[in-house]
Amino acid sequence: VRSAIGIDVGGTKVGGLLVAEHGEVLAEESADTPAGDVEATMETIYGVARGLAGRGEPEGIGVGAAGMVDFHAGTMRFAPNLAWKEVPIRELLTEHTGLQAVVDNDANVAAWGEYRFGAGQGYQDVLVVTVGTGIGGGIISGGRLVRGAHGFAAEIGHFIVEPGGPWCGCGNQGCWEQVASGRALDRAAREGAESRPDSLIATLGGAHAAEGRHVWEAARRQDRMAIRIIDAVGRRLGEGIAGLVNVLDPEAVVVGGGVADIGDLLLEPAREAFRGAVEAPDHRPDVPILPARLGNRAGAIGAAALALDVVAGGA
Ligand SMILES: [Zn+2]
Repeated sequence: VRSAIGIDVGGTKVGGLLVAEHGEVLAEESADTPAGDVEATMETIYGVARGLAGRGEPEGIGVGAAGMVDFHAGTMRFAPNLAWKEVPIRELLTEHTGLQAVVDNDANVAAWGEYRFGAGQGYQDVLVVTVGTGIGGGIISGGRLVRGAHGFAAEIGHFIVEPGGPWCGCGNQGCWEQVASGRALDRAAREGAESRPDSLIATLGGAHAAEGRHVWEAARRQDRMAIRIIDAVGRRLGEGIAGLVNVLDPEAVVVGGGVADIGDLLLEPAREAFRGAVEAPDHRPDVPILPARLGNRAGAIGAAALALDVVAGGA
């Protein structure tokens, strides 16, 4: 069976999988990320890759990492969390593993995973929205990843929806990811707990230390304040998706990431706000907003699939 190695390089963990051509995971290996040390991080990646290579006959290796990746050059231009600047990852991988290599950003490989083997399977035009602490995105159009002229496309978390709103890590105020992701839940949790110290959210997280996860926990116990907060964040998510659907016209939208694990409590208000905000909803086919299926393995599975697809000349 044909297979490839996929590696998801996160800020805390280097997660590797050996993945067969139809998406089955054949083996798994991971190690802590020595973030801040470029050479040690590369050594960790080689180690994980060698461990997986010994458990099959992979034809290629794919790596996904958060940052600005030039796919065609195979270099990481800049990754703030990993201290990477202009690292020729593809060349280094091939040199150290002997395998044909690809490197892309984490959101792109996760989107490719969902498109090939997850909730986006069967569609040719898919928008994948990854909602975690922030918002990442991947765009598949006509069965290909849209990378833009320089490889930086699909930075969907950073368009301004609330001028003068909360400060964003990118230097702007009121970016979409500030009002529709984990950061928005964290902020609402803090404000809610401070204004109502007797609330369930404050009881769970403390009057000055409540976070998004406490909102989710309270919502699971049917707490009305928590449900209202998730509803509001879900609506902002749906409005943003509507704007992106107006631009991209995909067949389906797949929503993944840690915050999306909240499920329909978040996705139902998102769907409702989407229908209210998308252009001419009665005069266009329905665009389903689907929960992602691969969970936190989407990145490694997608990186492996991308490597196999490139080896086969199909991506
Ligand atoms: Zn921003």
